[in-house]
Amino acid sequence: MRKQGKGTECVQAGYTPENGGPRQIPIIQSTTFKYDTSEHMGKLFDLEESGYFYTRLQNPTNDRVAAKICALEGGTAGMLTSSGQAANFYAVFNIANCGDHIVSSSTIYGGTYNLFHVTMRKMGVDFTFVAPDCTEEELAAAFRPNTKAVFGETIANPALTVLDIEKFARAAHAHGVPLIVDNTFATPVNCRPLEWGADIVTHSTTKYMDGHGAAVGGAIVDGGKFDWFAHADKFPGLTTPDDSYHGVVYAEKFGLEGAFITKCTAQLMRDFGSIQAPQNAFLLNLGLESLHVRMPRHCENALAVATFLKDHPKVSFVTYPGLAGDKYYELAQKYMPNGTCGVVSFGVKGGRAAAETFMKHLRLAAIETHVADARTCCLHPASATHRQMNDAELAAAGITANLVRLSCGLEDADDLIADVSQALDRVEM
Ligand SMILES: *Cc1c(COP(=O)(O)O)cnc(C)c1O
Repeated sequence: MRKQGKGTECVQAGYTPENGGPRQIPIIQSTTFKYDTSEHMGKLFDLEESGYFYTRLQNPTNDRVAAKICALEGGTAGMLTSSGQAANFYAVFNIANCGDHIVSSSTIYGGTYNLFHVTMRKMGVDFTFVAPDCTEEELAAAFRPNTKAVFGETIANPALTVLDIEKFARAAHAHGVPLIVDNTFATPVNCRPLEWGADIVTHSTTKYMDGHGAAVGGAIVDGGKFDWFAHADKFPGLTTPDDSYHGVVYAEKFGLEGAFITKCTAQLMRDFGSIQAPQNAFLLNLGLESLHVRMPRHCENALAVATFLKDHPKVSFVTYPGLAGDKYYELAQKYMPNGTCGVVSFGVKGGRAAAETFMKHLRLAAIETHVADARTCCLHPASATHRQMNDAELAAAGITANLVRLSCGLEDADDLIADVSQALDRVEM
């Protein structure tokens, strides 16, 4: 069959109505599912047959939306989670247990850093953080015998560094472990990490995929290529019997294409229950239907704003990987030639007070702890997400006191530039 374009997949993948069936994905608002015999239900519990029995594990609405995201990423299996945090936790914990170790890029979302560095450490999983632009030697030196995966973000939030996916995939595979990439900021419209050697992709669907600031959610997609059996000693959870399912061996029964997601659903969803509400999956799907139309506009607006800011006398620096001259411009051109994301960060000359003055005078851009939705919003990390840090601590985290993170929405670029321009005019030099 002819491979469909990403736009067609955004609109149609994951659900084909039957004759006379609802055109829109139905919201299956039901916690449970009815069967005629206990024997049939027993087979579901033994993973002998596929089917739904309880929405804490799986729901048909979610599965159709997950199938769309899976098609968009070019994977073999996918699942939705209640949040991006849950997606990253599940993706890592599905293969790393107490006593194991993960190599992660240091420029990752603050929430993920906290999950790894604080909470998962309490669970006995250790992490080594490496700079995204480290050398191959530095990267190789971070591995240990108990390393189980490598983790990074395609475009990091909020640092806006671009991951050299091929370099990280090479290192992961040389050490017999998969590369997990959080593709939230680029979205599969701009980059498909699986095509560059990543093995598992995660998302906070809360951002561009939903795109309207309506529903928190996450997703995990497996590329289905990582050979768990070739490194069976590292991944006993996939290659040896699961006693909680009558001895099923996931990689044997569900193949390389289905093992990771089936295990993640059968064990982690069952035990932790971070399922996405079917209502939210429905809202997410509405967002996905226009993702391919919205992403180019986000990128176009961000590039226009970044270009304006670059030459502004009251701006000390601009970081945007889509802007020629940016430190990550070449990598962005390689991995995302059609565009990066809508988020730009920049410094207002005059330090913390100047940034605060600028923010106060914005009219269109709203001050929010959010990014990546239709409405332009901005944040001053030094007085919000990172306010507990002094200037020296901020510098160590790669954030300056005058840094503003601007998430360009879908409004007219001229209006966004006019807003930023008038707010900069209010800053005294
Ligand atoms: C927001 C975000 C997350 C966390 O997602 P939630 O849906 O807020 O739980 C993870 N990774 C990245 C890159 C994000 O931007």
